[in-house]
Formats: sequence, structure tokens, C-alpha cells
Amino acid sequence: MLRSVILAASRSSRVERLVATAPFSRDVVRRFVAGAKTDDALRVTRELVDDGLAVTLDHLGEDTVTPEQARATRDEYLALLRMLAEARLTPAAEVSVKLSALGQAFDEQLAYDNARAICAAADAAGTTVTLDMEDHTTTDSTLDILAKLRKDFPSTGAVLQAYLRRTESDCRELASAGSRVRLCKGAYKEPESVAHQSARDVDKSYVRCLNILMSGDGYPMLATHDPRLIAIGEDRARWFDRSPDRFEFQMLYGIRPEEQARLVGEGYTVRTYVPYGDDWYGYLMRRLAERPANLAFFARAVASRK
Ligand SMILES: Cc1cc2nc3c(=O)[nH]c(=O)nc-3n(C[C@H](O)[C@H](O)[C@H](O)COP(=O)(O)OP(=O)(O)OC[C@H]3O[C@@H](n4cnc5c(N)ncnc54)[C@H](O)[C@@H]3O)c2cc1C
Repeated sequence: MLRSVILAASRSSRVERLVATAPFSRDVVRRFVAGAKTDDALRVTRELVDDGLAVTLDHLGEDTVTPEQARATRDEYLALLRMLAEARLTPAAEVSVKLSALGQAFDEQLAYDNARAICAAADAAGTTVTLDMEDHTTTDSTLDILAKLRKDFPSTGAVLQAYLRRTESDCRELASAGSRVRLCKGAYKEPESVAHQSARDVDKSYVRCLNILMSGDGYPMLATHDPRLIAIGEDRARWFDRSPDRFEFQMLYGIRPEEQARLVGEGYTVRTYVPYGDDWYGYLMRRLAERPANLAFFARAVASRK
């Protein structure tokens, strides 16, 4: 219930104005977001890489409505990739891209062209791109664009969401040699017709999908903070004899950092998803919806500013 309310608020421009302009928001945002500028992203990436983590960087912004905005997002990624290569942070750091930020909602061809330019720049920088997955109305279009991009850039990563009923079948499709697939639970509010609704059903689906990916020929990227699912991932790595260079764990910046360090200490590859940029509202609201306990953190920040 609370999750639905927060996700509804994430679509309200009125609530967005309230939260975005509130002075306390900065402290809350800082926990989950590297900062507003490309330099902030580079600084945090350097710190994480020095701690033995791999990184995927997300320039915040989604639901772009004009071609100019979409091209500006593309250009930000091109500049970021150049700077990462110059700082010798590739291949440890790659980028995560939302097609909606590249124009997918109004011009699929433009989104593809922009994504292609980013893949080419990543390739030149010696690293990779992963296409984030958004709400279910975009899944087919995103997987179509992924298939086209993979013709020239086969290492382009996919994201599949365990809460969608279709995902087991998508995992079978994508568990082929060289195919990088991030498996997450899914962060959007989806109807029962397309998505499992209870946490238990989502977790069971995650395990079925994880089994398909870990027993397949691709490169699974297990994106979760859930202790039980991480333990199952470790178990399947042993069972399917997957060495740490043949799969990875992924977690979000600011969430369970001690667990990220523990897994690195165990010799696993762990990639931290690092968002940066001004447009943090939708991202922050999804993080609050995932764990309403984070609202207490938010409330403390408000109280401490009174
Ligand atoms: C690297 C990465 C990339 C992702 N990419 C996508 C994507 O492209 N598309 C998409 O729909 N979703 C994406 N997600 C989000 C994902 O779908 C989930 O919404 C999110 O990871 C929470 O699910 P969980 O597996 O951690 O399990 P949960 O059951 O939500 O959490 C398990 C435990 O993890 C901790 N935890 C989880 N979330 C938080 C939080 N916000 N704050 C503090 N502690 C927390 C808590 O201890 C909690 O008990 C991504 C997640 C990660 C880690």
C-alpha cells in the first residue's frame, strides 16, 4: 500500500516540486546519488574502483520529451565515457542507459541512434553499456533495440525483471554465449495481468530466472540486495562451477555497502550502480518505495533541519 502511494507520488509533479526544493532533500539524495556533476561521478567511481568494486554509471533522467533533450543525454554519456577512459577507469566502469532518456517514447529510431552512438563510444573507451529496463510497456521495444545493438556491439547488456510473468521465457532467450543479462526484481508499479504482485512470488520467480541464467551460457549479473537471493547466487555459482569472472553481483550505490565489501573480500566481482545528475527525483522515489524504512531516514533528515 505504502509502496503504491510512493510510486504514485513519483509521477506527481506537485510532490516533485515540494521534495526537490526542500532544503533537507540534499542530505537524503547524497546517500543514493554521487552528485550533480560528471566530476562527482568520476570521484565516486575512483573511490569504489580503489576499493575493488566495478561500477556502472547512470546519468539520471528519464521520460525525455524532446529530441534536443535526448541528444543532450547522449552527449553527456559520450563526454562521460571519454573522461572515464582518460582517467583509466575503464573497463572497471561501464554505463547504464535508459532508452526513455534517449527518446524511446516518441521516436524509437532516435533512441536507437542515440544508444548506438553511446555503444560506439563505450567500445572505443574499452567498456560496455547496459540498457536499463523500465515499465512493462517498454519491454518489447527495449529488447528489440537491444537485439539490433548487439549485432555490432555484442557485449551490450540486457536487464530482465523477475516480477514480470514473461521473464522466465526472456531469460531462456537471452542465456546464450556472451550475453550479459542483469537480473533484478523490478522497480515499477505493474498490473497483475503482467506481473507477480506478492514479494514471495517475485522472489520465487527470481530464483527460477537465476537458475536459468546461471546454468546457461551467458554472463549473469545478479542485481539484488536480498541476503537470501545473494546466498542462492553464491550456491549456484559453486553448483554450476562459475568462477568469479563468469558472473557478477550488482548493487546500488549507498545500499548495503558492507555487503558489497564482504562479497569483494570473498573474491566475487561486484558492480555498484552509481547514479549522478540533477534529475534524481524519480530514482529517489523508487528507492523509497522499495524500502519504506528509508522514509524514516527521510523523516530524520527533515526533523534535523527544523
Ligand atoms: C544494480 C541494479 C540495477 C538495477 N536496475 C534496474 C532496472 O534496470 N530496472 C528495474 O526495474 N529495476 C532495477 N533495479 C532495482 C530492482 O528492480 C529492485 O527494485 C531493487 O534492487 C530492490 O530489490 P532487491 O532485490 O534489493 O530486494 P528487496 O526485497 O527490495 O530488498 C532486500 C533487502 O535489501 C535491502 N534494500 C533493498 N532496497 C533497499 C533500499 N532502497 N534502501 C535500503 N536498503 C534496501 C534491505 O535490507 C532489504 O531488506 C536495479 C537494482 C540494482 C541493484
